[in-house]
Amino acid sequence: MKIVKGKCKYCKKVFLYKSYPSCMTRVYCSRHCQIKAQRINPERDMEILRLRKEGFTLVQIAYPYRITPERVRQIILKTKKYIKNDSL
Ligand SMILES: [Zn+2]
Repeated sequence: MKIVKGKCKYCKKVFLYKSYPSCMTRVYCSRHCQIKAQRINPERDMEILRLRKEGFTLVQIAYPYRITPERVRQIILKTKKYIKNDSL
C-alpha cells in the first residue's frame, strides 16, 4: 500500500489516497463527486436508450453498467426528456 496523488475527474481537486495493487486507480476525490460525475454521462445514457429501443429489458441493460434496473428506467426517462428539450 502506498499513498498516491490523484486529480478528481469531477471537481479537479488534487487529493491523496491509499493505493493497493489490486485496486483500480481512483479518479474521484469523494463518493459525492463520483455520484455527481456518473449522473452526467451522455455517452452511457445514449447507449442505454439505444439498447432499450432495441428491446433489451431494464435488468439486461443494468447488469453490465452495475446499476439497478430502476436507475436504468430513470436514465431512460431523463435522456428522453433531454433529447426532447434539445431538439426544440
Ligand atoms: Zn472531487
